[in-house]
Parts: sequence; structure tokens; C-alpha cells
Amino acid sequence: MFAAEFEYRKAGSIAEAVQMLADNPEAKLLAGGHSLIPLMRFRLARPEMVIDIGGIDGLRGIGVSGDTVNIGALTTHAEIAASPEVQQANGLLAEAAGGIGDPAVRNRGTIGGNLAHADPSSDWATVLTALGATVSVQGPAGSRSIAAADFVEDAFMTALAENELITTVSVPTLAANQRAEYAKMSHPASFYAVVGGAVVVTMDGNRCTAASVAVGGLTPRPVKAPAVEQSLAGTTLTMDSIADATARLSEDLAAAGVDIIGDVYASAEFRAGVAPVEVKHALLHAIGLAHH
Ligand SMILES: Cc1cc2nc3c(=O)[nH]c(=O)nc-3n(C[C@H](O)[C@H](O)[C@H](O)COP(=O)(O)OP(=O)(O)OC[C@H]3O[C@@H](n4cnc5c(N)ncnc54)[C@H](O)[C@@H]3O)c2cc1C
Repeated sequence: MFAAEFEYRKAGSIAEAVQMLADNPEAKLLAGGHSLIPLMRFRLARPEMVIDIGGIDGLRGIGVSGDTVNIGALTTHAEIAASPEVQQANGLLAEAAGGIGDPAVRNRGTIGGNLAHADPSSDWATVLTALGATVSVQGPAGSRSIAAADFVEDAFMTALAENELITTVSVPTLAANQRAEYAKMSHPASFYAVVGGAVVVTMDGNRCTAASVAVGGLTPRPVKAPAVEQSLAGTTLTMDSIADATARLSEDLAAAGVDIIGDVYASAEFRAGVAPVEVKHALLHAIGLAHH
């Protein structure tokens, strides 16, 4: 099906895009188009105006500054996966980007579009929540930063105000004693996450001194797992201690007060059962007890 008629505008700068959004509150931004265009063709979205931000150079690119990796919103998954700077500074970002969709999706889809669309099955929000990333946004009143953990509020709903756009995603680099991994059960056709688990562990030898764990895919928004994290911290990581810690994920899902998604592909019960398995996989990869 063809999309309904719409007006097409191309923004030349971030300021111009913000102004166009403020002037046209019903308009939609266009980045890689991998979510917006299908929605428009199915007529699930019928924006009167589409503002193409694809030509704004200030929204593109990767830089490492001190202990932070800064990624422009328009940077594609393929660029993140292939970046030697990212691989060096935070390998989990490159690994997660490389596991998104297929080459066509990775070559067009952008990190900003992915976050703004907030599909519960997307990978970035879960990974960035575990990594403690920050999302910078700009609107008519200026710029502000939102913790990645607070960015997705519900399925397809974010903390972005109507007339704001994402400019940059900032992610801490990994220290030499930190290991980070993401494991997902992916849909076999799209590779979207049915269930995904992301972990960052800080190690002192075999002992975990701190942990950050998030799961997604099974819930409308990523869920942080403090019970699992507390169970891991201060523990020597073994098959048994990891199994004990991940068994506590059900406490975290209950405390988060979110529904577990069930659909034609996987029931809620199945997803809830797989979630600790994916976190366990990620942890075992992180400490070298399992390999991809
Ligand atoms: C077949 C297929 C398989 C996929 N598999 C995966 C997968 O395995 N894992 C995964 O995580 N994702 C997956 N995706 C999603 C894909 O990776 C894209 O990231 C996603 O479709 C949106 O990014 P985009 O740049 O194409 O955004 P667009 O489609 O251009 O925009 C999406 C939404 O975000 C808004 N938007 C875009 N950029 C900004 C910005 N800078 N600020 C504010 N709002 C903005 C738009 O207005 C629109 O509402 C898949 C998509 C397809 C089609």
C-alpha cells in the first residue's frame, strides 16, 4: 500500500528541525525510515508533514572524549558495529549493533530512530540502560539529558516532548576490569528481541564488585534488575552463583509492575521463563564461561 499524501520538508540543521517541529506539532521526523515508512505505508501513521533530518551532519558520527563514547542520533547500527573507536572503548555497543536485524536494516536504521520509536523488541534501550547511558535531546527551550533507563516510558512512548529531537547518545567507556555482554532470543525473521538481557560486571579477579543488569523485549520498557545486581555484587562468579542470582529476576519483574508481553510468537509465561536464561548467558559470556 502507498502512504497517504504528506508534505515533505528537509531540515538543514538541528535548529531548523526544532523550529519546523515547533511550527508543525503533528509532523514526524524521518531518520532511517525503517519504522516510520512501514507505519505510513500501512497507514498506521498518517503525518501531514515529514521532516527529513537525514542531511544534518551535526547529528552524525562517533567520538570518544575522556571516559565517554558520544554517538550522534543519525549514526547507523552498521557504523557503530564497524567503528574501531567503539570496539576499543565499549565493545558491547559494537556487539549489540552488529546483532540488529540484517545488513539492510543496519545500514539504514539509526540509534536515535530506534530509541525514539521505542518498540519493546528493540535492543538499544535495554543495552543502553545496563550501560548507564544518557540521551541528549534538543527542543525550543534548549537541550537536556535523560538517563537511558528513564527514556522509554511504555511501549512506543518515550520521555521526548512533542517538539524535541534526540541529538546524541553518550555511553561510559568500559574500564579494564569491566565486562559487558548482551544475549537475546531473537525473532528468527526480524532478529528483534523476543527477550534480551544486558549485563555489565565490575570484577576484582573472579569476584564481582558491582553489577548492572537490564532485560527487555518481554516488557513494554526495559526493566532494571536490582535484586539480581545485589545478588551478584560481592560474589565470586561461578555457574552456581550466577544461577542463584538470575533466579531472582522474577522479583525484579514483579517489583517493576509491568506486564509481560505475550503474543502469537511467544506467550508471557515463555518470555518470563527465558529472561533469566538470557541474563545467565550474558553473564557466562562476560566472565568467559561461555562463548558466542
Ligand atoms: C526488518 C526489520 C528488522 C529489525 N530488526 C531489529 C532488531 O533486531 N533490533 C532492533 O533493535 N531494531 C530492529 N529494527 C529497527 C531498526 O533497527 C531501526 O532502528 C528502527 O526501525 C528505527 O530507526 P530509523 O532510523 O529507521 O527511524 P525512522 O523509521 O526514521 O523513525 C522512527 C521514529 O523515530 C522518530 N525519530 C527518528 N529519529 C529521531 C530523532 N533523532 N529524534 C527524535 N525522534 C526521531 C521518527 O519521527 C519516527 O517516529 C528492525 C527493523 C526492521 C524493518
